[in-house]
Amino acid sequence: MKKAQVVFVLGGPGSGKGTQCVRIVENYGYTHLSAGDLLRAERSREGSEFGQLIDNHIKDGKIVPFEITIKLLKKAMEETRKLDEKKIHFLIDGFPRNEENLQGWTTIMDGEADVNFVLFFDCSNEVCINRCVERGKSSGRTDDNRASLEKRIQTYLQSTRPVISLYEKQGKVRTVDASCGVDKVFANVKTILDKEI
Ligand code: UDP
Ligand code: MG
Repeated sequence: MKKAQVVFVLGGPGSGKGTQCVRIVENYGYTHLSAGDLLRAERSREGSEFGQLIDNHIKDGKIVPFEITIKLLKKAMEETRKLDEKKIHFLIDGFPRNEENLQGWTTIMDGEADVNFVLFFDCSNEVCINRCVERGKSSGRTDDNRASLEKRIQTYLQSTRPVISLYEKQGKVRTVDASCGVDKVFANVKTILDKEI
């Protein structure tokens, strides 16, 4: 079986990762897997042994142990490929969030997937917070409130930025200015993706 080809999509909470991934899927042949969405689905799955743990971590803006997240990602990738073996291009959104995530991924997935590059949605913390507070009015998410957001931003700065820096050293980061409106950001994304494909 061909190795999966992966793009990691990173950026602060509310930087537009999920929104832009939907656009990318519409225009390019990628499958979108959001680590956060997979964790939220696992949280509410009947009989899950991790529901409470995931719930607590998400509310506190903390990073769920990598074994759980990677297992969900791996399963989702396998299910996609079982349905259609041609689907080898994946956007993995919101992962890896810290160095343990990355190490776990390398150990578990190295034989099965290549990381092509990191798509990094860059915008200020202020923009991130305002967007999530706005989203919180309708998202129903337990972490789109100011208290959780302070923690999510801290986690992002302390844990996720170093992962982006590691990839930067390998020349694998493609940075998108994510501070403008959805259409403009997507135009920036297209410029990048058209060069890669
Ligand atoms: N999360 C995690 N590991 C991951 C992805 C998400 O622990 O690989 C948890 C973490 O608590 C994070 C929350 O899920 O704050 C929401 O993540 P999501 O990517 O959905 O948020 P976004 O960055 O899109 O606002
Ligand atoms: Mg998201």
